[in-house]
Amino acid sequence: MAMHEVSLVRVLLNQVAAVAAEHGGAPVQEFLIEIGSLSGVEPLLVRSAYERLSAGSAGRPARLVINEVPLEAVCEGCDRPFVVDRFRFVCPVCGSGNVRIVRGDECRLVSVTILEPESTQPESIDHVDPSAAFGCNQKIETDVTTDGRTIGRTMWAGR
Ligand SMILES: [Zn+2]
Repeated sequence: MAMHEVSLVRVLLNQVAAVAAEHGGAPVQEFLIEIGSLSGVEPLLVRSAYERLSAGSAGRPARLVINEVPLEAVCEGCDRPFVVDRFRFVCPVCGSGNVRIVRGDECRLVSVTILEPESTQPESIDHVDPSAAFGCNQKIETDVTTDGRTIGRTMWAGR
């Protein structure tokens, strides 16, 4: 059992519960998370950690939907966005190594779907606070070194 993912899922479930509580505490039907390919988090381990953590709880557990996000960068030279393949931080158009990561290095709670008590129609709540990447209790600064350049980036991880 991967401890990292277990603690991450605990933090995530607290966030999901907080969002549900803000909206009347109705049962959560489903929640959607994004896991970046450079986040250091393994989607399969997150799923098994969630299944294990929710196994003992009463009632039907909410459905966990995982959206895996590829690592995307933008070239500072020619402004082109591109998907970073195999950690090759070089612009495929102009060959510049001056690139900025824009997506795929974090984990994020995207939306929570709850069942409103007075209706049978599920309501989807887009997560209100965009800075609330789950596991944001701890901020880890990491540097990725490629072709002699160092690209500073920020990774969010569970406590
Ligand atoms: Zn370029």
